Amino acid sequence: MIVMKFGGTSVESAEALDRASGVVKSRLDQKPIVVVSAMGKTTDRLVEMARAAAAGDLSAALAELQEIAEHHHREGLASATANRRAGLEAFLDGTFARIEKRLRDLPVGDLSPADNDVLLSYGERLSSAVVAEAFFRNGLPVVCFDSRTVIKTDANHGAAQLLPDETAAALTAHVAPLLDDSVVVMGGFIASTLDDITTTFGRGGSDYSASVIGALLGADEVQIWTDVDGVMTADPSLVADAHRLKVMSFGEASELAYFGARVLHPATMAPALEKNIPIRVANSRRPDNEGTLIVAEAPHTALVKSIAYKEGITIVDVRSTRMLMAHGFLARLFNVFERFETAVDMVTTSEVSVSLTVDRTDRLDEIIAELEGVADVERRDNNAIVCVVGDGIRNTPGVSAKIFTALDGILIEMISVGASRMNVSLVVDENDLEEVVRRLHQAFFSQIDKEVFA
Ligand code: ADP
Ligand code: ASP
Ligand code: MG
Repeated sequence: MIVMKFGGTSVESAEALDRASGVVKSRLDQKPIVVVSAMGKTTDRLVEMARAAAAGDLSAALAELQEIAEHHHREGLASATANRRAGLEAFLDGTFARIEKRLRDLPVGDLSPADNDVLLSYGERLSSAVVAEAFFRNGLPVVCFDSRTVIKTDANHGAAQLLPDETAAALTAHVAPLLDDSVVVMGGFIASTLDDITTTFGRGGSDYSASVIGALLGADEVQIWTDVDGVMTADPSLVADAHRLKVMSFGEASELAYFGARVLHPATMAPALEKNIPIRVANSRRPDNEGTLIVAEAPHTALVKSIAYKEGITIVDVRSTRMLMAHGFLARLFNVFERFETAVDMVTTSEVSVSLTVDRTDRLDEIIAELEGVADVERRDNNAIVCVVGDGIRNTPGVSAKIFTALDGILIEMISVGASRMNVSLVVDENDLEEVVRRLHQAFFSQIDKEVFA
């Protein structure tokens, strides 16, 4: 059995759905379970719709909903067989009427995380139904399954934590028996609590859903079908001559995803790693291309495998001549971030100051107000983290020297060599980001090892 996950672009239109059907059909002998994202940019639109409704702008919310509805009707009806169109249309009309009612009933003011999850969940609920119709029209023996009935989580809305035992039991009881005769299509990203309250894994979480299902059902491979050829040496939208990685380790892929490479959700690797199930990232437009294989051990012949970046980073400088050397200062400092539920990404220290980075700033004013009791605090917005990742960094001296040489003349705000010694991360001004990524790419990938890169 394999799990095949198709991202938003890979299911965005009737044409894309025919392509996805073909990819699944050619792998039917491997007994695929298919996990799908919302169609195209639907989740972005649902986010906007929910925000507008909660802000009291119902007409903006309904206009957004109208766009989503038109897209699903147009592409969905074109994907269905003639005699199933009426049924699909009734399903779409009913679903959009329910969303509209929810919007009208939504309390104005604070959008609760639970309401937000319900609204966002419609993307995958709609797409799984539409994908199933396309598969049926293409002759696949399809069953559409509501993931929320089997993927179980806690009630941490927007970033739900999996309940592995309950999920494994439900998948084994309800999904596994279908696999002999059918292709099961399920929405990624969405789940529910034991009381059947809808939850989500957070943006980009369909990759994680696929990995969870693969791990719990013991798949031979988890395949992430997306809009690029695989994991590349840098984001191809920034570096046009990026190379595809043929193979990389779970650790490298996790590190890369954590530091911003959108191609994989950072949580994706953990379930696969635990059961040692390979993950393959491949292009749904070029299905014959082998993509990138992610496994426990990858060749170490290449020093660096890829460069990731994260924009929208804020540096917080905390200076305290009196306090810094005192024991317990760092503990107290991080305790403040902990209390305001703000994750810290990177930290550097000197004798009199600590610099750290955050990517969420919604509670930063409160944090700074609290810290100003014991230190001088400066906040610097519009920075970016750039991260050079590779297992080989561990055993090879000179990586930092190569980075500094490549970045001659550019101001580096912070630098850190990860404890995993699998990455070197830098913080630079957002305006320098493209230049920094291009120069590093040039430094590390102008000559490539054919065993590792395509
Ligand atoms: P999907 O909708 O299929 O989940 P995403 O948009 O989430 O697709 O992820 C694919 C995108 O990730 C690519 O279009 C690419 O711009 C971006 N990306 C960032 N870093 C990398 C990288 N190192 N390798 C490949 N793609 C990357
Ligand atoms: N549809 C969700 C999102 O856009 C989940 C996903 O595509 O992975 O974030
Ligand atoms: Mg994605």
